[in-house]
Amino acid sequence: MTQASFIPVPPESHFPIQNLPYGVFSAPGRGPRCGVAIGDRILDLAVLEEAGLLDTSFFHEPALNAFMAAGPATWTRVRARLQELLDEKTPTLRDNADLRARALVPMNQATMYVPARIGDYTDFYSSKEHATNVGIMFRGKENTLPPNWLYLPIAYHGRASSVVISGTPVRRPWGQVLLPGEDRPRFMPSMLMDFELEMGFFIGPGNDLGHPIPIEEAQSHIFGLVLVNDWSARDIQKWEYQPLGPFLAKNLATSISPWVVPLAALEPFRCPGPKQDPAPLPYLHIDEDWAFDIHLEVQLQSTSMSEPTTIARSNFRYLYWNMPQQLAHHTITGCNLQPGDLLASGTISGPTPDAYGSMLELAWKGERPIPLPNGETRIFLQDGDTVILTGWCQGDGYRVGFGECSGQILPALSRT
Ligand code: CA
Repeated sequence: MTQASFIPVPPESHFPIQNLPYGVFSAPGRGPRCGVAIGDRILDLAVLEEAGLLDTSFFHEPALNAFMAAGPATWTRVRARLQELLDEKTPTLRDNADLRARALVPMNQATMYVPARIGDYTDFYSSKEHATNVGIMFRGKENTLPPNWLYLPIAYHGRASSVVISGTPVRRPWGQVLLPGEDRPRFMPSMLMDFELEMGFFIGPGNDLGHPIPIEEAQSHIFGLVLVNDWSARDIQKWEYQPLGPFLAKNLATSISPWVVPLAALEPFRCPGPKQDPAPLPYLHIDEDWAFDIHLEVQLQSTSMSEPTTIARSNFRYLYWNMPQQLAHHTITGCNLQPGDLLASGTISGPTPDAYGSMLELAWKGERPIPLPNGETRIFLQDGDTVILTGWCQGDGYRVGFGECSGQILPALSRT
């Protein structure tokens, strides 16, 4: 029988007792601290610590870094204790009205924050479908995948300071753009603003400088996952990206969802990933299945639409390179990861045109405008557009979900 909480959770909720994602929130009368989502409530972990119900001292902090650093044994113990306290059969919280009033906060009264102090943010490029589509568009059909792509998980070091929480507006940037048919760049607002449907994982315990993480030990360094929108200015990117990769096209903002879903909550949804051919080099070889069946959607709402419309459906399981491979590759030089570092997947595109994870691909660099239900069309994002990423795993009568990662495009600053 499926475990249930005394807190009512409808079957389509992203936050049943099987999930229990961690986040950082504030609410009237309580400053930023750590909590867990359950149904439409937040369980205040700082209150549970004060009440002596958790044998921990992590959760008064406005960041999850200390808990992330504590490692899998602690995560397992805390998760089991929280599932016990929230279970319909456990009276401790269920029958204590005063404690319940202090420990449970309505989600709609809370403000959410970036859940960790992110020291470093790395963005991979691990979807074969996405890399192939971009290759065809930027380099032609004969050079789709770069020669290294099937041998290593390509990535670039991103910008941690501009990782923002869902709901934060995103300003259209100015930059250098080389317009078609011209031989010098112009300085102008980006005209080709895009989203990227990604997921990312937070690093738990780190590694010492000079000590790579062997791939078979990767799991103990993976705390949990969030949705990631790696906003991209395609015209700026196209002019600047050679030879060192994206810089200003992607450092303006990266949005993440507020609830970090622990790896343990995703275990029932583990599945085989794409077959890897050629076989990865030994330091990237792993026998276990490391894909997860996470249904992903992208929704768009313009200022004249009354509700968002879904423009893409993809799945985390399509990713070619998996998290342990990304982690092992990242540290093979001895590069040190730290608790709270964020490693993102890269755009997650699926095999069919309705499963592409960016406007660039969905509208095929402008050749196939995307129709919206109110009669508008889009080839890239316009000012006022809101992009909402969402995702969930479908269990038997429940969902383990990630909530939302949203952001609205604001007009470029006027030049004065
Ligand atoms: Ca990206």
